[in-house]
Amino acid sequence: MNYSPTKMKELLEKYGFNFKKNFGQNFIIDENVITNIIRKADVDKNTLVLEIGPGAGSLTYKLSEYAKDVVCYEIDKKLQPILEETLTSCANVEVIYQDFLKSNVMDILKKYDYNKLYVVANLPYYITTPIIVKLIEDHIPVEKIVVMVQKEVGNRFKATPGSKEYGSLTVFLDYYFDIKKIIDVSKNVFLPKPNVDSIVVQFTKKEQPLKAKSEKHFFQLVRDSFKQKRKTLRNNLKQYNLNIIENVLKQYGHDLTVRAENISLEEFIRISNALTEENHDSD
Ligand code: SAM
Repeated sequence: MNYSPTKMKELLEKYGFNFKKNFGQNFIIDENVITNIIRKADVDKNTLVLEIGPGAGSLTYKLSEYAKDVVCYEIDKKLQPILEETLTSCANVEVIYQDFLKSNVMDILKKYDYNKLYVVANLPYYITTPIIVKLIEDHIPVEKIVVMVQKEVGNRFKATPGSKEYGSLTVFLDYYFDIKKIIDVSKNVFLPKPNVDSIVVQFTKKEQPLKAKSEKHFFQLVRDSFKQKRKTLRNNLKQYNLNIIENVLKQYGHDLTVRAENISLEEFIRISNALTEENHDSD
């Protein structure tokens, strides 16, 4: 595959391809960036890679060199003849032309034999969060997720308590993953050039030392706590047992006037566990 911007333009023109903004189409045209992502992700011949949105195949082509197998989901069928050309020599790649958000991934993965499953992708920006949430909610046994995202979205993923980006999504992600930025990417390496810079973020499955006794209860509590971001926990959590919540908050130097944006993952888990224990005690 030839990664020069001119060659990419020629290839797309050959098939009369027009970029679709509503599909978040910004293709990478810099081979160094691609190789850097794959090396940092540590993809090897034991790895099955799931790629969401192969586009014209720039990342897919390189992934095929490093990985055991690559399974891709691409929503835009207009890319099929282009991908057939760029991936013609890549026998270990399967492309499924389907909306990833509506797909049954586990059904496809069943066919594959693998030691490790990674997601490596330059994500369509308009659905970055729904994609990550689907990976969690569908219980896809992914060990590592390495994705290119818009810088500000990436910063929200790894926000810490007290910062303005910290929200229920951060707590949700923090429950499952260690999250870190691994590469800064300039907007100049994409065709067409987006308005904002990107970062590559790595999510590694966490062995959570402290588990929620009921994940369902824990996530509901977190969502309720952030329901009105500017309000205190006393106001957002009226329907819960506030005495129990207050007892846990005290151990962290807080009281019921604290806002959710200042509560850490551990504190949320402890509150949820104290509340669920109380429910069981009174059963
Ligand atoms: N991986 C390519 C690259 O880096 O050059 C393309 C990345 S581009 C940012 C995102 C890709 O995701 C596009 O090819 C777009 O058509 C595809 N896409 C958008 N929404 C999708 C969805 N719901 N399911 C699968 N693919 C989708």
